[in-house]
Formats: sequence, C-alpha cells, structure tokens
Amino acid sequence: METDFLIIGQGLAGSLLAWALIQRGCKVVVVDTGKENASLVAVGIINPITGMRFAKTADVETLLPTAQNYYNQLSAYFGQQFYFDKPMLRIFRDQTELAHCKKRQHQADYAPYLGKLYTLDQSMTGFSTPFGFIEQRQTGNLLTVPLLTHMKQFFIERHSYRQDVVDYKAIQLGSIVHWQDITAKQVVFCEGYQASQNPWFSWLPFQPAKGEILTLEHQVELPDMILNYGNWLLPFESGKVRIGATFDRENINTQVSEQGKQTLLKTLKSYSPGMAQSRIVDHQAGIRPCTPDRLPFMGKHPRINQIAIFNGFGAKGSLQIPWYAQRFADYLLNHNPLPPSCDIQRFQTTHFTG
Ligand SMILES: Cc1cc2nc3c(=O)[nH]c(=O)nc-3n(C[C@H](O)[C@H](O)[C@H](O)COP(=O)(O)OP(=O)(O)OC[C@H]3O[C@@H](n4cnc5c(N)ncnc54)[C@H](O)[C@@H]3O)c2cc1C
Repeated sequence: METDFLIIGQGLAGSLLAWALIQRGCKVVVVDTGKENASLVAVGIINPITGMRFAKTADVETLLPTAQNYYNQLSAYFGQQFYFDKPMLRIFRDQTELAHCKKRQHQADYAPYLGKLYTLDQSMTGFSTPFGFIEQRQTGNLLTVPLLTHMKQFFIERHSYRQDVVDYKAIQLGSIVHWQDITAKQVVFCEGYQASQNPWFSWLPFQPAKGEILTLEHQVELPDMILNYGNWLLPFESGKVRIGATFDRENINTQVSEQGKQTLLKTLKSYSPGMAQSRIVDHQAGIRPCTPDRLPFMGKHPRINQIAIFNGFGAKGSLQIPWYAQRFADYLLNHNPLPPSCDIQRFQTTHFTG
C-alpha cells in the first residue's frame, strides 16, 4: 500500500495533522497503539489567561480563532459539536493573585479575556472566595473523546487506520519509507510523551508531566461555568463534574494514585467542603508531552529527511494543535519555513549528538 504520510499516533496531534494533510489532497495512514493516549484523558479546556501572574498565552489572538474554526469545520463534517464556549470563574487564592489580576485589568490586550472582578467574598454557591474572583472570557472546552472517536472511524472508513505498536526497528529507511506492507514518502511521529523513547528524537529535552483527574457525582448547586481555584472544576452533565489536574514530573506512569486523588480532594475541600464529599465515579491519569520552553517540537530529523516529529503540546494541545497542524502541513508540502520558536532546530546545537 502506498501513502504520502505515515503518521504514528492518533492523539489530538496525529489526528489534526492527518486532517490538515487530507484537506490538502494527501494520502495518509495513521497507526496507533489504542492505549496510553493523553488526549483521551484530557478534558480539553482552553484558557487564554493562566498561572498565578495571569499571563496571556503567546499568540492566543491567532491560536484561539484558528482552533475555534478548525473545531467548527470538524463539527460541520461529523454533524456533532465538539467545542463549547464556557465562561470561567477564576477564584483568587490570595492577595497576590488578586493584585496581579488588577494590574492585568489595566492592560488593553487583556480586555477581551477578562470580565467583571468581584473583590469581596461574594457568596458563590457552594464555594468560598475570600479574596474574590473574576470572570474570564473566551474560555471553553473541547470534547476530545467524541472528536477522536469520530476521526478514528473516518480514518478506518478510508482504509487509513491501523491499530498496532510501531516497532522502530521495523521501519526501513531509504528514499521512501517501508513499514509492514506500507510505503510512505514521509513518517511523522505524533507519539505524545512516548516519543522520549524514539531513537530518532530522544535527544529532544522532553519534560513529561503526569496528570490525574477525578469525576465526581454531586448534590451541590453550581454555575454552569468552569471554576478555577488553582485546580479546575468542569461541570459536564447534570450532577457530574470533573476536577483536575495534578502535575507530577516524578512518577511518569499512567496508573491512578491515592496521592493524586487526595491532592485533588484536599484542594477542593479548602474551597468547597460540600463538593469534597461527592462520590467519586471515575479516576484517570495521563501524561502531558511538555517541553522546557512550553513550545512544540516540530520538524524533520537533522540527518534523515523522511522522518519528522509533531509533538510537545504540553498542557495546551486543544488550543495549539489546530494552528500548528496547518503550519506543519505547509512545511511538509510546500517547504514553508516553520516558526523558529517551535522548530526542533532550536535544540540541535545543544542536544543533538548525531
Ligand atoms: C490529566 C491531563 C489533563 C489535560 N488537560 C488538558 C486540557 O484541559 N486542555 C488541553 O488543551 N490539554 C490538556 N492536556 C494536555 C493534552 O492532553 C495534550 O496536549 C495532547 O493531548 C497531546 O496530544 P498528542 O497527540 O501529542 O499525544 P497523545 O494524546 O498522548 O497521543 C499520542 C498517541 O500516540 C500513540 N503512540 C505512541 N507511540 C506509538 C507507537 N510506537 N506506535 C503506535 N502508536 C504510538 C499513543 O498510544 C497515543 O495514542 C491534559 C493532559 C493530561 C494528561
């Protein structure tokens, strides 16, 4: 079987890149293990303003409309909505956070993302907010599970999907690439955190971070908004919420842990003792493919033109991948240069030993 691109990994990165290439008239085959997929654990929150300093994500003015358009296109194609705008209430954890936020309110470029500020302990149902809170705008969430399920079915129907673990030794490189019965002009690795084991790309400084999430069934009346109190809480169906996520750089495995569960419940309890009594109906863990500068790893191998990587979307895959997938498709097909900030060449002199 001949194809233009052999894509390894059907997470959000591999799926949205495959889509971008198919839209440009290419043939692709996507291979996935069917396990250990961070995209299927993630709740897909998009939040332009993050961290204690309320920092605006770089290039969000470009990334966000591109992501919304991309998900709308996919929704139109599959006949199901995947991305939902959902406002966020950001609860200040202390006076310092409140002060940072007040400063941001005076910056014109933050205006589209920040709403009304409540500085007193307004009685938000079920939650204590001693330092106040602010409404954040242009936040939302992507339903990654139905999106990736539809995309997998789409690839299967086009005879463009294999469930398998790609053994690197089974890839034969030449002017074209052979794997099993497939010959491809180019292989693109979209393996999430597992790329740190990839012999061609393990030189990249991956910084994987485990995250755990709980699903709770509760009786507390809550606004239909994302609540952010250091962790986030996302109502997703009547009487159910997801809370998350832990951030653990030490234990890189996909097992759920008692420690992860207790960390999430303890933080929740300090803001909402009632919610922390909720019944736990699910507990999941996954691994984010983080990078030291929080920017993706994209590009071709320094020596082997036929292999490339599209990875490193850390904790912001839902926001970043649609825009970067289009840049990467243009790079692969038309040799358009990549933005230097995400090109793996930035680590070549310091990390690549040949
Ligand atoms: C707990 C948690 C919460 C998160 N919350 C959010 C959030 O709210 N918003 C957000 O934007 N992001 C969030 N993220 C981050 C998000 O999940 C990632 O940015 C994104 O999913 C990465 O996608 P990916 O395709 O690169 O990796 P993955 O989704 O991990 O996909 C990689 C795929 O490649 C396959 N694979 C690897 N090696 C091989 C091989 N040799 N052969 C075949 N297949 C292979 C894997 O099995 C996997 O299916 C969260 C992550 C976690 C863990």
